[in-house]
Amino acid sequence: KDEVNIISGALELRRKTVAEVMTRIEDAFMLDYDAVLDFETVSEIMKSGYSRIPVYEGDRKKIITTLYIKDLAFVDPDDNTPLKTLCQFYQNPCNFVFEDVTLDVMFKEFKEGNKGHMAFVHRVNSEGEGDPFYETIGLITLEDVIEELIQAEIMDE
Ligand code: ADP
Repeated sequence: KDEVNIISGALELRRKTVAEVMTRIEDAFMLDYDAVLDFETVSEIMKSGYSRIPVYEGDRKKIITTLYIKDLAFVDPDDNTPLKTLCQFYQNPCNFVFEDVTLDVMFKEFKEGNKGHMAFVHRVNSEGEGDPFYETIGLITLEDVIEELIQAEIMDE
């Protein structure tokens, strides 16, 4: 039965898009680039349980970098370090994919390591008067793709 699930899951990867399985940006745990890594903020990060935290500037749809939990190893909450300082030091890259990319393509990219194991899903917003611009609508990780492949939830530690 498991095998049948995986085979049908594998076939489905070609039909599903990243937008269908991503975590919506509204639901993501993120930090403002202007945040200060004080005791409260660091506690919240730890409580969230995520190992990668998107960092946005001004608007939640404008993601500029990612904070990895391991980057906090040398941070003392008593120092009230600005998040900016850490981001500038590590300069972790962000990877973007378009919302209509299919999961087989996404899986291949994750496997090849080109996109890390997390990518931000973006789209072109051409509504309104001004020039079209990119906006981020969600994030997707390798785990999201594997869950589709095996057609089951992966329980987090
Ligand atoms: P982690 O290793 O941080 O637990 P995973 O890659 O295992 O992250 O992803 C687990 C689930 O959590 C996935 O559905 C993913 O989309 C979601 N996720 C990952 N990071 C975040 C975040 N910062 N905020 C909200 N959801 C997230």
